[in-house]
Amino acid sequence: MWQSLMDEEYKVDGEPSIKLIIEIGGKSGTLRLSSIYGSFNYLADTELIANEVTKFYCPHCRENLATSDACNTCGAPMVSFVA
Ligand SMILES: [Zn+2]
Repeated sequence: MWQSLMDEEYKVDGEPSIKLIIEIGGKSGTLRLSSIYGSFNYLADTELIANEVTKFYCPHCRENLATSDACNTCGAPMVSFVA
């Protein structure tokens, strides 16, 4: 079953955000990206640190999202994101 990453409850740029789980500096948190094309606005409950490797995980199944354009495990669509 394909699952959406859209989070209707948390809006960024006035639109439902795209929810991902992130891990940075050994801590994990939630990242919500703007769904507006070209916008790099986001909400994060963990500070994004420059020069730290950030890992992205599917919020549904926690699969690492590093390389594919869709979650291989649950089929959630991915977005390209450059931190
Ligand atoms: Zn998944």
